[in-house]
Amino acid sequence: MPPPQHRSTFLNRTAALVVTSGLPVSLGAAPAAGAKSYPSLGRTEDYAEFRIIDPGLTLTQVESWTQGQFGIVRIATNDGREGYGQLSSYEPDIAATVLHRQVARHVLGCDPAQIDALMDRVIDANMKFPRSYVCRALAGVDTAIWDLYGQIKGKPVCELLGGKTDPFPVYGSSMRRDLSPEDESARLVKLRDAQGFQAFKVRLGVPTGHDRDASPGRTEKSIPAVRKAVGDDIRLLGDGNSCFTPPKAIAVGRRLEDSNYFWFEEPCPFWELEWTAEVAAALQMNVSGGEQDNDLAQWRRMIQMNAVDILQPDLCYVGGFTRAWRVAKMGQNAGKLVVPHSSHLSPITLFSLHFMAAIPNAGPFVEFSIEEDANAGERLYRPALKVTAGKVKLPDGPGWGVKINPAWLEKASYLKSEKPV
Ligand SMILES: [Mg+2]
Repeated sequence: MPPPQHRSTFLNRTAALVVTSGLPVSLGAAPAAGAKSYPSLGRTEDYAEFRIIDPGLTLTQVESWTQGQFGIVRIATNDGREGYGQLSSYEPDIAATVLHRQVARHVLGCDPAQIDALMDRVIDANMKFPRSYVCRALAGVDTAIWDLYGQIKGKPVCELLGGKTDPFPVYGSSMRRDLSPEDESARLVKLRDAQGFQAFKVRLGVPTGHDRDASPGRTEKSIPAVRKAVGDDIRLLGDGNSCFTPPKAIAVGRRLEDSNYFWFEEPCPFWELEWTAEVAAALQMNVSGGEQDNDLAQWRRMIQMNAVDILQPDLCYVGGFTRAWRVAKMGQNAGKLVVPHSSHLSPITLFSLHFMAAIPNAGPFVEFSIEEDANAGERLYRPALKVTAGKVKLPDGPGWGVKINPAWLEKASYLKSEKPV
């Protein structure tokens, strides 16, 4: 930390810039030649990546509904408009408690037009509770604001940012480690033939498994067996879920390369960036990761040290669409592709489709679960996402383009925070 006199000098200079230019510092004052700038992480009230709607509205209400592993958020404005979003899945009742205790009070009374500043304010105010559940809760507000933007503008979210609702390719994402290589291969072949999937992801090792395998030799047997079954034209991905130390990860990676897999995801414990970088440097193939990461500074480090080639933020774990956009932008500046983590068919996959339709550095497909459908029978929202010829058409309606099922909301636990107009 700099000595106090340096800090006050900096503050005085900052104040002078505001007075003389009449503009916010980050927008009005170009950095001197050679000076560093810090735009991608935000962190100032004046940082504005997005100005989708005109300023002037006020957020007056935040509501949440949670049931099972899923949670829905609705925000309302002083003129009676609404937007729907989603809390991070898994323990959503805890995220809802954090939403109403630690997030809502920093959001209510604010202008939803200033989404970057709003996100930063919540993160800054919760410095004693860095990220995790704060981001899981914040995602609900952020994604609801993006839906609100779409309602106001009468456009799908991706179109607000120059994207199109055209069918987007998806990859079939397996979560199973209990199937034999033969049984796993058989079901992937069936899905390929029935729905036209052109890519699949299979599981390797055991999550945070310290080099263990789900059954003896499963990882080594599965890699070539799945390739042989689906054929050479299908893109294959392998996910280690933080299982391996670098020597084992490199050995597994060589097998993936021998069978022409497209990426090796989260080969090492995700927090061990140096380990992951070691694996990425040793292998020819792509290493991907980042689904757990919700700290934008950690993302910057991960990108700078080339720990991963493909970035996989989870739009809800990271704190919403806006923060995931910042990750994508850092990736774009470093020439890296993005394929978000979206491991079930709750609205998160819908958010990822809009995101991928809009960002310039989208990877070739969106993750699409082939396990139990969280939206079976449209119990959460309609229309359901459907795979045809390996692609999913984005809904054309405004915002996220779906209607949350009132019957699901009725059975859920409900909480509300409000600020009277
Ligand atoms: Mg993963």
